Amino acid sequence: MSTTSPVADQHVKTCCNFAATSQIIAIAICAFVILYAIISSLRCFLGRRMETDNMLSPPEPPGLNPTLVAALPMYRYTHQGRGDVPEPECAICLSEVNEGEEVKLLPVCMHLFHKDCIELWLEKKRTCPVCRTGVIQSPGQDQEMQ
Ligand SMILES: [Zn+2]
Ligand SMILES: [Zn+2]
Repeated sequence: MSTTSPVADQHVKTCCNFAATSQIIAIAICAFVILYAIISSLRCFLGRRMETDNMLSPPEPPGLNPTLVAALPMYRYTHQGRGDVPEPECAICLSEVNEGEEVKLLPVCMHLFHKDCIELWLEKKRTCPVCRTGVIQSPGQDQEMQ
């Protein structure tokens, strides 16, 4: 009895008989099961990754970065040099901006608001309450435009 007889020989001999056919079917089923397992685990992995991505990335704050808000130009409003132009109205609290009140000017659209009003607003929004223009053009937007 030769121990070197390769298993492949047996396969060739039993080719097309029931044993070989059932072996092929078994292999096919195995392959299918493995493939199915791989696909479902991949799906699971991808799905979980997307979930964890959502969970891990901190919830995007709806408002503007407080540092950027603080960096907005702030000054005391003065009516001097404005002639007959009526006092500007703060669109947030709907009251007039009076002489000597602290105001902030949005650098992009140049709209004027009370400092406290716009700071509260920008905790929740990133756009001008009047014209909806972005308060600050983010570096990301600049890159997209290039
Ligand atoms: Zn106001
Ligand atoms: Zn504006």
